[in-house]
Amino acid sequence: MSKSLKLIAANAESKAGEPTEIPGKPAKPARKGSVEERMYHEIYDAIMEHRLPPRTKLTEHSLCEIYATARHTVRKVLSHLAADGMVDLEPNRGAFIASPSTDEAHDMFELRQMLERAVLEKLAGMADVKAVIAPLRQMVANERQAFLTHDRPKWIRLSAEFHTALAELSGNALLVNMMRRLVSRTTLMIASVEAPGNNACSFDEHEEILDALEQGNAALAQSRMAHHLGACADRVQPDEPGNFDLRSVLGRST
Ligand SMILES: [Zn+2]
Repeated sequence: MSKSLKLIAANAESKAGEPTEIPGKPAKPARKGSVEERMYHEIYDAIMEHRLPPRTKLTEHSLCEIYATARHTVRKVLSHLAADGMVDLEPNRGAFIASPSTDEAHDMFELRQMLERAVLEKLAGMADVKAVIAPLRQMVANERQAFLTHDRPKWIRLSAEFHTALAELSGNALLVNMMRRLVSRTTLMIASVEAPGNNACSFDEHEEILDALEQGNAALAQSRMAHHLGACADRVQPDEPGNFDLRSVLGRST
């Protein structure tokens, strides 16, 4: 059993995360308050906060012991985490905390830029956009509150869910599944390079995106989102090799 998981088990009661309730959001697969739900949230939070670093093995046996539950419950949670892009299931080897490569991060952020742009276009065109996005106003208020009360796991989770919740408002279930995976995986990516617990989005920027949407101004919402995601992408990607000035190092001896 890893040290981190022992710690999680010890803190189980105090760390158990409340699922975020978003109107219209599909039901979580686990029963509310069940062992399955608690295990999912604790592992999710530990990954997002980098208490469980990438490539950590999640052994079924240890999880069964920690949560005093059956193997099929553990497998359900692991496959849920895998569907969300948080865990990689490797044949004959088991479950590992995902560790996306830099190349994958580039592709994921590029795809997020395209998808989130399309989502904003659709939402801004809705006649009742103000009412449609009202739950997200509350969500941003909750993000701010979690930050102010130093509840980092909740802050990180809410800031990631803001993006999935936007996609949910578009009403396309396939898009939501794709976004859930992309958002989890990119947030995890940022967790692996930032100081622990420092991988949440700016709630002020989320608020500004909603302001633009409320005005029905798709172009402004899209440019604010592009800036917001661009800043996230910069946090996980090294400078392009092309930016390096070879003349500063080479060719000085002649
Ligand atoms: Zn964000």
